[in-house]
Amino acid sequence: MTNKRDYYEVLGVNRNADDNELKAHYRKLALKYHPDRNPGNKEAEEKFKEASEAYEVLRDPQKRNIYDQFGHQGLEGSGFSGFSGFEDIFSSFGGIFEDFFGFSSSRRSRTRAQKGADLRYDLSLSFLEAAFGTETEINLEKQEVCPSCEGSGCEPGTHPETCRQCNGTGQVSRSQGFFTVRTTCHHCHGNGRTIPDPCTTCRGTGQVRVNKKVAVKIPAGVDNGSRLRLTGEGEAGGYGGPPGDLYVFIHVEPHDFFERDNTNVICQVGISFIQAALGDTIWVPTLNGKKELKIPKGTQPGDLFRFHGEGISSLRSGKRGDQIIQTVIKTPINLNKKQEALLKEFARIESGKLSNKLKNILKSSHVEAS
Ligand SMILES: [Zn+2]
Ligand SMILES: [Zn+2]
Repeated sequence: MTNKRDYYEVLGVNRNADDNELKAHYRKLALKYHPDRNPGNKEAEEKFKEASEAYEVLRDPQKRNIYDQFGHQGLEGSGFSGFSGFEDIFSSFGGIFEDFFGFSSSRRSRTRAQKGADLRYDLSLSFLEAAFGTETEINLEKQEVCPSCEGSGCEPGTHPETCRQCNGTGQVSRSQGFFTVRTTCHHCHGNGRTIPDPCTTCRGTGQVRVNKKVAVKIPAGVDNGSRLRLTGEGEAGGYGGPPGDLYVFIHVEPHDFFERDNTNVICQVGISFIQAALGDTIWVPTLNGKKELKIPKGTQPGDLFRFHGEGISSLRSGKRGDQIIQTVIKTPINLNKKQEALLKEFARIESGKLSNKLKNILKSSHVEAS
């Protein structure tokens, strides 16, 4: 059941009132209970909403007809549910308020909710933190809604006042020859309201600067330049607007051993030329510890080997890339006499298989190829 008052009673008109009468009565009530003239006054707010709803119904022949026949319940059955708030009323009655007050539906433009500014934070991660993801806390300095006045800027228990300079319009008119020029009111900076007792905590701004710790969950696979958005962790909004967002920009520190190419991890391992020639099994570091790699006989410098699935998780699919291992072949140094003799012997045998061109190269070098 609805406990709404009768719409005709609300507007103070009789049941056969015409459009002009409705408008005149509503105008009187709207001027009296307009939120700009009664800031913070709950009762006036309710009266303003009630009158607006009554007028909305009675000025519309179809709705008025349903209401006349079936009352409030009939309207509810037809989908009409009144106004949810001032924004609703002002967007519905914009033109009417212009007539009433001599300015455009200014409440909306003056105290329009403003989204807070976005913030940027640069976060450095180690190679492994980026590869596996991590959780961390960052310290931010940012604007938050003042806890004392909850953003109103008024000392608790006090209320803003309609600006006397501009009568709450936020604009002042000035005659210039034949023209009337409207400018933003300097007294209230276009807000239409002034604060007689500014909140001592925020000095009337409605916001305070605070240091805040924000927990950040870094997903596995972020890379240099990755950007994380934390919705609502930016600066506080103005006039009840939502806060901005926090963007965390990722910087990944280089690793001594691993390099990264998208989701693949690249590394170089040194092997001796003996291992390269004869083949061997070696241990190679991976992101998850050491792993065996079989080097085949005759491995060449720069040959590539691959560990499937030992790379970095894709941010999108979660699928891990590969580890790619490039061989670097080390030439032995500081050979003793015996090793040198053996290598010469090796070269002598080898030269039997070599082309003339290579034989000449060997001849001209310090290795004798007799
Ligand atoms: Zn405050
Ligand atoms: Zn003003």
